[in-house]
Amino acid sequence: MTSSPQLDRRRLLLGRSAAADAPLVAGIAADCLAFRGIACMSCRDACATGAIRFSLARGGAVPRIEREACNGCADCVPVCPVAAIALAPLRAGETPDA
Ligand code: SF4
Ligand code: SF4
Repeated sequence: MTSSPQLDRRRLLLGRSAAADAPLVAGIAADCLAFRGIACMSCRDACATGAIRFSLARGGAVPRIEREACNGCADCVPVCPVAAIALAPLRAGETPDA
């Protein structure tokens, strides 16, 4: 069986092959610069599906993932200057819009 480049990339990012076939969604950790009042929208600019949205909050605009729009492509992961974005497989029973 051959793997697509995108699947290989997911396996590399996840570091485990067992989860590679599960639907993946991006998540943003508290390390995000925007959560600390530092302007950054690099992830939004890298996301072709528009899954990363910013909303106004105290101190500036902060990102969130619109999970139903995230296709798990991982394009946002390498552009984050503080490695605050990671992909994770959906848990059993979880849906992208949960
Ligand atoms: S994994 Fe892809 S679709 Fe999901 S938020 Fe990142 S760039 Fe957008
Ligand atoms: S690229 Fe990283 S630091 Fe910048 S807004 Fe996105 S998650 Fe936050």
